[in-house]
Amino acid sequence: MSFQAPKGTYDIVPPRSATWLAVREALSRQPRLAGYDYVETPMFEDTGLFVRGVGESTDVVTKEMYTFEDRGGRSLTLRPEGTAGVLRAIAEHGLHRGQLPVKVWYVGPNFRYEQPQSGRYRQHTQVGVETIGGDDPALDAEVVWLAAEAMRSLGLTGTRLLLNSLGCRECRPAYRELLQDFLRGLDLDDDTRRRAEINPMRVLDDKRAEVQAQLTDAPLITDHLCGACKEHHEQVRSYLTDLGVEYEDTPRLVRGLDYYVRTTFEIVHGGLGAQSALGGGGRYDGLLATIGGPDLGGVGFGLGVDRTILAVDAEGLEVGDRSRCDVFVVPLGAAARRRTVTLLRDLRRAGLRSDTTYGGQGLKGAMKAADRSGAAFALVLGDRDLEQHVVQLKDLRSGEQTSVPLDDLVAAIVASTGQ
Ligand code: AMP
Repeated sequence: MSFQAPKGTYDIVPPRSATWLAVREALSRQPRLAGYDYVETPMFEDTGLFVRGVGESTDVVTKEMYTFEDRGGRSLTLRPEGTAGVLRAIAEHGLHRGQLPVKVWYVGPNFRYEQPQSGRYRQHTQVGVETIGGDDPALDAEVVWLAAEAMRSLGLTGTRLLLNSLGCRECRPAYRELLQDFLRGLDLDDDTRRRAEINPMRVLDDKRAEVQAQLTDAPLITDHLCGACKEHHEQVRSYLTDLGVEYEDTPRLVRGLDYYVRTTFEIVHGGLGAQSALGGGGRYDGLLATIGGPDLGGVGFGLGVDRTILAVDAEGLEVGDRSRCDVFVVPLGAAARRRTVTLLRDLRRAGLRSDTTYGGQGLKGAMKAADRSGAAFALVLGDRDLEQHVVQLKDLRSGEQTSVPLDDLVAAIVASTGQ
């Protein structure tokens, strides 16, 4: 009997895994440079947390959750997104009682029961940030910038940043009614009509041409923001301009999760087909109170590692170091093999990635293995070399070979690899 990875999931194996690590590192590097602390929360939570925290009417909650009862009769759900769990942890540990804003980052898998296709999987990984207790538009701008900068640092040039404000508890209800009135006058199917009653802003995001054609004159949220929201949005925009971030005002941008207010943004890429969003986020004032914490503002993002890798591929970028080693030791003879064990220990302790062959492989096979490892240097160690306390250091790029005293070896390699 043979098994395969479950439908909608995939393995991350070499050589791809090097790209995976590099992309995950690039996305998380930006928050680490900006004073964000690391958090890690369980991969499953009380089902109720997601129902409240993500929103009862969202596709994620109604159709996509992996929910199960554990042996103790609790209803648990594999996390479909990161924000709810991280906010629960902030409230549970009282992090908001320290200095504000709380700024944290995290990385990990999320699970959604979706119809798998390119860029859409049942397990995907996000790097996210969440901030709690800051109302300053400079914080919104920082969060947007971190996301944009992460993509820039990978060398991606085909991304676009879409920006919108969704208003707040003050101004959104009136806009919502206005939009509903407008939608009621359109020729829509039953499902869409129902959606218009529950969450009318989602209808604006409908991808079908026959729906879009009717939406040309739909009222736009940005024309109906209250004074405070308008001011906040203007400030976010001008900070982004100062930061040199190019953004597109996108008054129809709504995101799939219910909790967003004011700033919302998405980073999309032209080379990915239907699943074009690499990541996005926004402000979620009030969300912490929804899950039982204090009523503090917050803003954050989630960036998809899987789709970012697809974008890196689409642009033909080489990201990540596929070499496994800096140094590859080739022992020739029994005494050399014995000495190799301690030599590797010393090289590794000096921070040099080093490997060898096993099982007494001959010179030819061992040199092939050295090449395949991506090492810059091979150390050929024969029994006669050992007697003279030297080793042959071969630069695998230039082919140049020098005899180096064993005692100076680590220092010599460190000097030539610049590590
Ligand atoms: P969301 O949590 O829905 O706002 O998604 C944030 C980002 O996570 C998206 O832009 C994608 O890059 C990624 N993402 C969300 N769902 C999936 C999925 N099913 N498969 C792969 N990536 C996903």
